[in-house]
Parts: sequence; structure tokens; C-alpha cells
Amino acid sequence: MSTVLIIGAGGVAAVTVKKCARLVEHFSEIYLASRTVSKCAALQEEVGADRVKGVFAVDADHAHEVEAIIKQTKPDLVVNLALPYQDLAIMDACLACGVDYLDTANYEPKDVAKFEYSWQWAYQERFEKAGLMALLGSGFDPGVTNVYTAYAAKHYFDEIHYLDIVDCNGGDHGQAFATNFNPEINIREITQRGRYYFNGEWRETEPLSVREDLHYQNIGERASYLMYHEELESLVKHFPTIKRARFWMTFGDAYLNHLKVLEGIGMTSIDPIDFNGQQIAPLEFLKAVLPNPGSLAEGYTGQTCIGTYITGVKDGQEKTIFIYNNCDHAVCNEEVGAQAVSYTTGVPAMIGAALMLNGTWRKNGVVNMEEMDPDPFMEMLNKHGLPWHVMECESPFDRSES
Ligand code: NDP
Repeated sequence: MSTVLIIGAGGVAAVTVKKCARLVEHFSEIYLASRTVSKCAALQEEVGADRVKGVFAVDADHAHEVEAIIKQTKPDLVVNLALPYQDLAIMDACLACGVDYLDTANYEPKDVAKFEYSWQWAYQERFEKAGLMALLGSGFDPGVTNVYTAYAAKHYFDEIHYLDIVDCNGGDHGQAFATNFNPEINIREITQRGRYYFNGEWRETEPLSVREDLHYQNIGERASYLMYHEELESLVKHFPTIKRARFWMTFGDAYLNHLKVLEGIGMTSIDPIDFNGQQIAPLEFLKAVLPNPGSLAEGYTGQTCIGTYITGVKDGQEKTIFIYNNCDHAVCNEEVGAQAVSYTTGVPAMIGAALMLNGTWRKNGVVNMEEMDPDPFMEMLNKHGLPWHVMECESPFDRSES
């Protein structure tokens, strides 16, 4: 018997709930709580009340509200698929009730767009002392990309030296401008300064100012931009032989032009303004205007290709491999009514949860994905819709500094 409480009922949660619902052996009881309870009820209706046993309204900004639901549902694990703003309150509730925790994105304060693990790593001692596990970042990137790196370190290298994580969405949703996951979180992330790790220090770049045209399997060449992404921080900590770690994401010209205009007129700002006597952050308003990422699935064509280039040394020889997955939007839609970005996040959340619940992944404290044995996770990726491939490369990704 293992009971899971899932918090959040957006694009990612919808995939996780549907995948968990099929795996009675891992998830005997599922409960669902979110801010808008009608979204939980709709999901419950879709998968059946025999699998989602109860739905609850919760404002997860308040730990005591989460605690009340934990006390009622008595889960073995809380899966946080709400927004990064809620991470700490949900971790507090888990500590207060003695329950394990999992999320897919690191904590961000609402009023500062700052991406770092410091706030959540500060919970290490409390989780360890309580004999509880908090698994951080069990999505695709972070998540699968961390596991790919751990898998490469275990099976392909004696030492890892260079890491380039590449994330391409080669799909077409037919909208003029839309984001593939929560627009507020997405735009906060991509409008930040770029940052990468080089020889023991972090170097910064202007936002989206470093471009490389990269080739993606089954997609072709796409303009890719250097960005900061949170898994870089934990990967360089856990693999200290890394000399350089970077993250690249593809953006089309139309997307960048829209973004530039929106930024230029202040629509991406998180600083509240007075509007008819009400304080609103322009970015929150923009989120309300943009398409709901969950609604993009119908008619979305093309694939994603997300992977990790790793250069290192094995038996004194330098080599480079690329571990990656292709995920097709239309196939995801047919399977669970979701687009590939929700799918590639929602499936790893289910896998991380299953491995924690059956005890395969167990470590007390606050844990990043690469700290655990990658093999069972990689095996489940193949079984549950995210097959991966390892390609031996003839030459390193590149040796320039940025
Ligand atoms: P959505 O905006 O679609 O869903 C977020 C859900 O959280 C909504 O149901 C929302 O409720 C709920 N929520 C928001 N605030 C609260 C609150 N205070 N209390 C309770 N529930 C709340 O986002 P996504 O599904 O696209 O993303 C979910 C998470 O996944 C995010 O943290 C995102 O950063 C992460 N992510 C991670 C990726 C990875 O690869 N690691 C990739 C993509 C996303 P309401 O319906 O009322 O708004």
C-alpha cells in the first residue's frame, strides 16, 4: 500500500496523475490538491474516483493548509507539481507531518527571479534528522538530464570534464506566442542573465546573447541559446571534476521577437504596478492573456530532443557521448492528452515517486537526482514513454569558453 498526495493540477500534474493512475502496484491511493479544486475534480473524473480517491482545495503558500490535507490523507509521499514559489511551504508541511517530498523545480521567491538550490539545501539537516527524503528536480531538465549525467559517470567515464545540456523543442503549436509550461515561471527563467560554469567559477552573459546553431537528432539544425539552468548548480557540486558546464535551449525568431517587444514595453516585469487601484505584476497579467500550456496539445506537431553531451576520460582516453530522448507532441497527446513538454516533465515525476515509494531510491536528507543510482530510473524511462539513446561522438561538443 502506498499513498501519494499530488499538489497542483496543471499541465505537468495532469500527466503525472494519469501515469500514476495506471500503476496500481506503485500508487495504490492517489489524492490530488490544488488552488483551483475544479481542475482536480476534472482530472479525477477523467481517471476515475477509484484511482484518485479524493480532491482538495489548498493554497500551498501556507504550510498549515498543506498539513491539514496530509493529516487527512496520510500519504507516504507528497509530490509537489504546483509552482516553485510553494516548494518551501510544502517542505515545511512534510517535515511537520513526517512525510517524504518530491518536486520538479527549485524554489524561487516570488518577488526576485533567482534560481538556486540554497534555500532547499538548507533543509538538509532537518530532513536527515527526521529520517525523511526530499527529492529535488524530478522532471526532465532538471531531472532526467541529471540522471543521464550520473549514468554516464557510472558506465562510460572515469572522470567527466565537459557537460553541455541541450534542450530543443522542434514542435509547432500554431500559436503566435505561447510558452510550453507555466508562462510566468518560463519567462522569468529565460529573461535572466545567462550563466555557465568554467574552471571553478560562474561566468555571466547578457540574456540570450550567446548563440550556437546545433544539430538535434530527428529535428535538424536549430538556433540554440546559452541560458542558466538550475541543474548546472547541483551537477558541478556532485561531479567536481567538471571543468565546464553549460545549458542551451532553442528559440525561434518569432518567439524571440515577441519576447523582445513584450520586454520592451514592460510586460515581463515582476514588479507590481498600480492598475485601477489594484497592484498587479505585468507578468502575472501576461500569463492570464497567454494560452494555457495544457491547451496547446491538440494539433501540436513535431518533436522535442533533450539530452546531455558529456566529454570525459575513460582508461586514459578522452571521449564524448550524447544521451538523449526524442518525444513526439502528437504521440503524447494521443496517449494522455498532453503536449511533449508536460509529458517529459510529468513522466519523470511519476518515476521518481515510484522509486521512492518502493524503496529503490532511499536516502535521508535533501537529495538531487544525480546522487541516486541512475540504473533503475533509466530502466523505467524506457518502459514508461521516454526511451533514451546513447550516441558515441567523433569529436567533443566544442572547447571554446562559451
Ligand atoms: P501550471 O501553471 O500548468 O500548473 C501549476 C499548478 O499549480 C496549477 O494547477 C495551479 O493552480 C497550481 N498552483 C499554483 N499556485 C498554487 C498554490 N499557491 N497552491 C496550490 N496550488 C497552486 O504549471 P505546469 O504544470 O506547467 O508546471 C508545474 C511545475 O513543473 C512548475 O513548478 C514548473 O516550473 C515545473 N516544470 C519543470 C520542468 C522540468 O523539466 N523540471 C519542465 C516544466 C515545468 P491554478 O490552476 O489555480 O493556477
